[in-house]
Amino acid sequence: MSRFWSEIVHQLTPYVPGEQPKVSNLIKLNTNENPYGPSPKVLKALASEASDSLRLYPDPNAEALKSAIADYYSVNTKQVFVGNGSDEVLAHGFMGLLKQSAPLLFPDITYSFYPVYCGLYGVESTTVPLSENFEINLAEYNQPNGGIIFPNPNAPTGKVLPLADIETLLKSNTDSVVVVDEAYIDFGGESAIALVDKYPNLLVIQTFSKSRSLAGLRVGFAVGHADLIEGLERVKNSFNSYPLDRFAVSGAVAALEDESYFQQTCSAIIQTRESLIGELEALGFEIIPSAANFVFVQHKERDAAELAAQLREKAIIVRHFKQDRIQNFIRITIGTNDECQSLVTALQEICG
Ligand SMILES: *Cc1c(COP(=O)(O)O)cnc(C)c1O
Repeated sequence: MSRFWSEIVHQLTPYVPGEQPKVSNLIKLNTNENPYGPSPKVLKALASEASDSLRLYPDPNAEALKSAIADYYSVNTKQVFVGNGSDEVLAHGFMGLLKQSAPLLFPDITYSFYPVYCGLYGVESTTVPLSENFEINLAEYNQPNGGIIFPNPNAPTGKVLPLADIETLLKSNTDSVVVVDEAYIDFGGESAIALVDKYPNLLVIQTFSKSRSLAGLRVGFAVGHADLIEGLERVKNSFNSYPLDRFAVSGAVAALEDESYFQQTCSAIIQTRESLIGELEALGFEIIPSAANFVFVQHKERDAAELAAQLREKAIIVRHFKQDRIQNFIRITIGTNDECQSLVTALQEICG
C-alpha cells in the first residue's frame, strides 16, 4: 500500500497466474501449456528474426500475421485483430466493447481474469451460475445485458458447448456483443469463427499459447465483424502501437504454416487425455468430460487441496482453486504420456 497509488490501484484485485517454478525438475501440469515444443519451423523462423532488423520497430499492424490468420480461417484481414496474448485481446474487448451501461454476463465458474478486467475497467457484471453438473445453460443468458462472455470449452471445467447452442444464443441476443473465448477449442470443440459472417455482434478470441505451443511468445487474436475489430484497433492504438514484436509475428505465422505438426500434437494430447481419464477413474476420481488440454477432477474420498500438496511433494504441480463450488477439484494439464504416467503412479501411492 502506498499513498502514491491512484484510487483505482487501491481497488484492484489482480489475477494470480499459476506457478512458474524456478527449478526444472518438476512435472508441470498446472498452467495448461503444451507438453510438446513448438514446430521446428517456428524455431527456424525465430532464429532468422535474430538479426540487425531488430533495430527497427515491427509492423504496428502485424499485417503478415493478420493475413495468415485470415487465410487460415477463410475470413477477411479486416475481420482479424492480433494482440500480445489473448489476455491482451480480452482486455481491449472489455474496455472497448463490453463496458456498457447494462451488466456483462459470464458464468460463475470460469476464467478468473474476467472479473479482474471488470475491476480494472469498471465494467458492471452479473454472474450466471453453471448448472449442478457444471454446464453453461445459454438460455439463462436471455436477460438484459451489455455483453456476454464465456470460454468454449469452459475453463477450468473443460466442458464444451455445441456450436448450435451458441448460434441459438446469437439469434436471440442481437443487441450486445457475445465474446467466445476459444483458448482450448482445438482440443475438441467446433470454432464459432464459422458464424462471424452471419452475426455482426460475435467476437471469437483464440490464442497461440495452448494448441500451438507458444505460451512464451505471447500471441492471441480475435475474429469478428470489421466494425468490432475497428473498435479493438482504436483501443490498441491508444495503448501500445507495437504489441507484437518481430519474433511474435514471424513465429506465429510459421506455426500456422505447419498444419501437420499442429494436427499431430493436438491428437497426441487428445489421446493422452482419454487414456488418463480411464486411469483416473480407476483410482476413484470423478472427471468432468473434457474437450480441452486439461481435466477437472475430484476424488470421491480425498481432499483436493491436500492431494495437490501431496503431488507437489512428489514434484508434480497441478492447479487447485480456492473458490466456492470447485474447492474439491483439481485441474490437471495433459502432459506427455510419460508425464501422465508419473502422475498416475504418484496418485496410486497417495490414494492406494
Ligand atoms: C490461457 C487462457 C487465455 C490466455 O491465453 P494467452 O493467449 O496466453 O494470454 C485466455 N482465456 C482462457 C480461457 C485461457 O485459459
